[in-house]
Amino acid sequence: MNPLRNNIAEMNGYVPGFQPADESAWIKLNTNENPYPPSPKVAEAIRAEVGADGGSLRKYPDAASREMRAAAAELFGVSPDWVISANGSDELLNNLIRAFAGEGEEIGYVHPSYSYYSTLAEIQGARVRTFGLTEDFELADFPERYEGKLFFLTSPNAPLGFAFSREWIAAFAKRCAGMLVVDEAYADFADGDVLDLVREHENLIVTRTFSKSYALAGMRLGLAVARPWVIAALDKIRDHYHLDRLALVAATAALRDQDYLRQTLARIRATRERFTAELRAIGYRVIDSQGNFVFASPPDRDGGRVYQALFERKILVRHFSDPLLAHGLRISIGSESDMETTLAAMREIG
Ligand SMILES: *Cc1c(COP(=O)(O)O)cnc(C)c1O
Repeated sequence: MNPLRNNIAEMNGYVPGFQPADESAWIKLNTNENPYPPSPKVAEAIRAEVGADGGSLRKYPDAASREMRAAAAELFGVSPDWVISANGSDELLNNLIRAFAGEGEEIGYVHPSYSYYSTLAEIQGARVRTFGLTEDFELADFPERYEGKLFFLTSPNAPLGFAFSREWIAAFAKRCAGMLVVDEAYADFADGDVLDLVREHENLIVTRTFSKSYALAGMRLGLAVARPWVIAALDKIRDHYHLDRLALVAATAALRDQDYLRQTLARIRATRERFTAELRAIGYRVIDSQGNFVFASPPDRDGGRVYQALFERKILVRHFSDPLLAHGLRISIGSESDMETTLAAMREIG
C-alpha cells in the first residue's frame, strides 16, 4: 500500500519554464525575467548587509519583515498591517489556499492563466473549477454569484497579456461569495492596477512579485495587500523566517528606488510596443499586451514549429501544448538587441 496521501500520489508536479544550464549561450525569453539588472541600490544594500566577513548572517532575519513591509506600505499608501511579505508570490498563493480552502472545498481560476493555482489546490486536496474566456476576453459561464472559497484572477493575464478593467474587477469582486485574489504579477507593466480597491472590497486580495518588474526573480520575493484580518491569517501560517536577510534588504532597497523602476519599465514597454508592431508586420497575430511578454501566433497557427526553429537558433520562448494555446507562443520582452535578433530569426523562419 502506498503510504502517501492519495492526492499527493496522484498529482503531477508543476513544471516551471526551462532553465538551461549554459544560460549565457541562449537568448532566454521563456520565463518573463527582466532583461535589465535590479536597481544598483539592491546590490549595494546586499553588500552592506553581508559586510566584510558575512558576520550578520549568523543571526536570524527579522521574522516580521518590518522594514520591507513599511517601505511597501508607504509606497502603496496603506498601513503596514495591510501588507505581508513573502518568499516569492508563489508562497502567498499557496498560503491563501491553505488559509481559505479546506479539503474538498472549491477554488476557481481562469483557464488559460497560471496553472500553478491548480497544483497548489491539489496538494491541499481542494477542488478546482476553471472558467474559459470568450473571444473578447470575458469569463465564459461565470455564475451571477460564485460560491467557491477563493477565485484567482490573473490580471494582466498570463500567458495572453490582456488585463481586466478596473470597473470589471470591482463588479466581479461583488459576485464572489468567497475571496477574490487578483494576481498582479505583471501590473507594473500595465496601464493601471487595482491595488487601491482592497480598501473598498472586504474580500479582495492583491498579490505582487519582485520577480518581473523589479528584476529579482533570483531573490524570491513577493507581497500581498489585503484587509488586516486576512494579513493576520496569512502571517499565522507562513514559515516564520521565510525571507532571509539578503532578500529583505534587497526588497527594501528596490521598493525605495521607484525612479529606477520607472526607467526600466518605460524601456520594456517601449520595446514591447515595437516588437508587437514588427511581428504584426510579418503577419503574426499579437494580443495587445499589458505585461512584459506578448502572446503571438504565426500565420499558419503552428506555435510548435516556430518554437522548435527558434530553439535550434538558441532562442528560448514558451510554447504550451494546451489546445487553447498551441497555436501561439509566449515571448518575454528582453533587451532591444535580443528582440532585434529574435525578430530577424522569426522573419527567416517565416
Ligand atoms: C511569475 C508569476 C508568479 C510567481 O512569482 P514569484 O514571485 O516568482 O513566485 C505568480 N503569478 C504569475 C501570474 C506569474 O507570472
